[in-house]
Amino acid sequence: MKGMGLARLRRLLFVAGLSVFAVVALGSQPDPIRAQAGEPQQVATGSTWQGASFPVENFQDYTSAFGPRGYGDFHYGLDLAAPQGSYIRNWWAGVVVEVIDDGRCGTGLVIQSGPWEHVYCHLEGQVAKANGRNYLIDRAGGLQIWHGQQILAGARIGRVGMSGRTSGPHLHWGLRYSNQWIDPAIVLRAMYGQQRASVSSRTQE
Ligand SMILES: [Zn+2]
Repeated sequence: MKGMGLARLRRLLFVAGLSVFAVVALGSQPDPIRAQAGEPQQVATGSTWQGASFPVENFQDYTSAFGPRGYGDFHYGLDLAAPQGSYIRNWWAGVVVEVIDDGRCGTGLVIQSGPWEHVYCHLEGQVAKANGRNYLIDRAGGLQIWHGQQILAGARIGRVGMSGRTSGPHLHWGLRYSNQWIDPAIVLRAMYGQQRASVSSRTQE
């Protein structure tokens, strides 16, 4: 199943490569780090991703790529289909900076890791509040994730659900670098490349 996912990712990445310049043009706020064209590609491929986690268990398919999808709509993330209830894993160690509860994203989380923010939408469970802090509560999944909580890479942070605007169970996964949206497929490609290289160098020892 992993091999099939990779083949699909490669096809998707071909398209992603073509959209890099469109990505650069999208930032809505002035940002000194975003001075050079090619910066998103550079931070994605130039970073070390050995400790990063693939964001979902029981992955089935990439169902919607990052980019324009008609009707003037732009898809600011990558959709990863998985059976409802599959666990979502934190991509990179960080802190929960937002617990989302809205009609579009549904129940979701934003986790910050340095200049990166990773967004997870359409989760199972609800958002509740105690002592002035929001938290995600997913009783069936045995999860409680608090605003301000530190989360390790690979930790379970939620489950794939149908909250918000979605026609089927999937994780909508968004990535921002210095407030600029980045195609998550570019980062996944860099992650796979590095982690594969690391595995093959270990097996040669
Ligand atoms: Zn999406």
